[in-house]
Amino acid sequence: MKIKINFLKILLIAILLCGFAFIAKKLFITESSYNNDAIAIMKELNIYDKVDQNKYSKTLEEMLINNSFNSKYVDVYTEINFVNKSNFLNVVNTLLEKEYSASEINMILANLSDNNIDNLLELEYLSLEDFYLIKNLNVLKINEYNQYKKENSVTTEEAVTQVNIGLNNKYYTNIIEVENPDDLLVLVNKYRALPADYIPEDLVSLSNGSQFQLRRVAAEAYEKLIDYASDNGIEVLPFSGYRSYNTQKVIYNNHVNNNGRDRADTYSARPGHSEHQLGLAVDIRSKDYELKRLTPDDAKWINENCSQFGFIVRYTKEDEFITGYMEETWHLRYVGIEVAKKVMDLGITYDEYYDLYIEKH
Ligand SMILES: [Zn+2]
Repeated sequence: MKIKINFLKILLIAILLCGFAFIAKKLFITESSYNNDAIAIMKELNIYDKVDQNKYSKTLEEMLINNSFNSKYVDVYTEINFVNKSNFLNVVNTLLEKEYSASEINMILANLSDNNIDNLLELEYLSLEDFYLIKNLNVLKINEYNQYKKENSVTTEEAVTQVNIGLNNKYYTNIIEVENPDDLLVLVNKYRALPADYIPEDLVSLSNGSQFQLRRVAAEAYEKLIDYASDNGIEVLPFSGYRSYNTQKVIYNNHVNNNGRDRADTYSARPGHSEHQLGLAVDIRSKDYELKRLTPDDAKWINENCSQFGFIVRYTKEDEFITGYMEETWHLRYVGIEVAKKVMDLGITYDEYYDLYIEKH
């Protein structure tokens, strides 16, 4: 019993001491963390009393000592988190002039790329509420995203990626010429063309005296893939590899003459827009299959195994609305093992993958 009373006494004293310490701190310790220069400027500008000296703000301090302070925003500055970034003060002041709130500015600085922030400074105020956390956001396209969302039943994330790909415009409009045709990860589609004179420099023939060629790295990966397939009882043969711009032109025009342009566009690429011109795409068929394509079983096996050799199945059934091509189980594109595994695991098109993980925004 005695022990218990002693314990309670000690506890009571401890609580009282803590209480005193807390009150003493409130009453006597009002030391500001602002540096002397900032305090001198506050006094000179007659705002020292307006600023809560107990609530240090590095943003306010930097504004004061770097001659960027605007008295209109004295209270707002203290709510903006300081970010170590070369044009931070200018960004904050410009966004405040455009009437962004402190919390909006904090979200912008914490999440948007430097490129997007630079572009925001040139634009009128935009509501970014739905977009802060979208990694492939391009603020120049906010109106297009919103419009696309209205017209299609898609999430904001899908709208951003699909507009970035170009899908809010018709296929073969707003075409850009790719700058890096030799890059193994280059994206070619109905909005992105290769130069007509692009020919890869390291084309090699596939084995067994094949008339088909691929770039060396893709050819080596292809041999490994078909050897592994063969070990598993899957016998496949190539039926197309590298195709020049002019070959593609002849093929495409033939299809147009036979089936009309609209129909041809669903299965044949216009010249400059074919992955075959890259020397990184190969078409394969099952040996002894009368349709000269992959049997459903072989297609399934290839789909499950090609990524470990660096290939992806580029045109899938569920993604026709993105790629603009009918399903092609037989068309494999080389992108290297790491990227191929990611694309196939994510179950997205290379167009989407490129925008989400390769393109700089
Ligand atoms: Zn093909």
